[in-house]
Amino acid sequence: MDNCIFCKIVRGEIPSKKVYEDANVFAFHDIHPAAPVHFMLVPKQHIDSLADVEDSHRNLLGEMMLLVPRLAKEQGCTDGFRTVINTGSVGGQEVYHLHVHIMGGGKRLPGMIPHPR
Ligand code: AMP
Ligand code: ZN
Repeated sequence: MDNCIFCKIVRGEIPSKKVYEDANVFAFHDIHPAAPVHFMLVPKQHIDSLADVEDSHRNLLGEMMLLVPRLAKEQGCTDGFRTVINTGSVGGQEVYHLHVHIMGGGKRLPGMIPHPR
């Protein structure tokens, strides 16, 4: 995708603080971190969002989920972490290239969804 900001990061056309790269995925620090550790894991292949995944993405998604705990630990999330995949307008997605936010490295993150007690 020519104008996708995360495709440009994957291609090295926009600078990023790289966390990890292999043939299928790329990970980089979020430019506006919401936690002491906050990076994103994206497929190199452009997929708009989690709402657009198909059966053909099974192996890719599996690789990404297996990488999350490994990279989180390597980045200093030793006491757990939060993963977020914002999807679509209701989900607050701003960049339409599938990405997993991984956050941690500090104190307990605030609750996201208020629960009635
Ligand atoms: P969202 O689509 O809502 O899950 O959020 C997109 C995320 O991408 C936000 O947390 C932004 O801070 C982050 N972001 C946008 N542009 C860049 C960039 N050039 N480098 C790193 N992170 C970015
Ligand atoms: Zn893209």
